[in-house]
Amino acid sequence: MSVNSSSLDKTEITIQTFQDFIQQEREYQDRKWGKQNHPDEKWLAIFVEEVGEMSKAILEKNDVELFEEIVQAAAVLQAWVTSRLFDFSTGEDG
Ligand SMILES: [Mg+2]
Repeated sequence: MSVNSSSLDKTEITIQTFQDFIQQEREYQDRKWGKQNHPDEKWLAIFVEEVGEMSKAILEKNDVELFEEIVQAAAVLQAWVTSRLFDFSTGEDG
C-alpha cells in the first residue's frame, strides 16, 4: 500500500486532499522508480494497468482500494504529462 488512506472515514475528498495524495504518490513512485521516461505506448500500458486495478476494486466494492488506485492512476498521468514535450503545432484544437 503506497498511500496511507487508513485514516479516511466515509467522507468527501476535497480537491486539496486529492492533490496531496497525488503528490505523496508521485514522491513514492519517484523514490521507487526514479524519474521515468517512456514512450507513450508504455505510459499508456502503465495507466491501463492502474485502470484495471480500479476495476477490480469496484468489483470488490473496496472503496479504500479504489481511492488508492485512482490516486496511483492520477500520479501516473502526472508523471507521463510532465516527462515529455508536447508539440501543440501538430493538431487542431478539439
Ligand atoms: Mg495500482
